[in-house]
Amino acid sequence: MEEKKSYKCKYCGEEYEKPILLAHHVRSKHKRAKKKEKKAAAAVMGAEQINKTIEAVGIIKGLQVSPNLSEEEKKILGDVSKRIEGLLVSIQKSK
Ligand SMILES: [Zn+2]
Repeated sequence: MEEKKSYKCKYCGEEYEKPILLAHHVRSKHKRAKKKEKKAAAAVMGAEQINKTIEAVGIIKGLQVSPNLSEEEKKILGDVSKRIEGLLVSIQKSK
């Protein structure tokens, strides 16, 4: 008995005899879903990065008030945190 090879769609489980048929099916039926998935994943990743960046600004600001720093060092940290905050604002505006 000959076993027929089939190609299963990983999105809906439908089976096809030829890979080209499966590819066509995925392209026509699931392309949009795939795009959406990617977009959602990117949004989650972006939000995580923004949270980490906000945390980093908090750390810099905490260092800035440390009594061991010279005025010059405090100024540098202030500039850095302002620059990062500026970036964050422009990222959040572009969303
Ligand atoms: Zn499918």
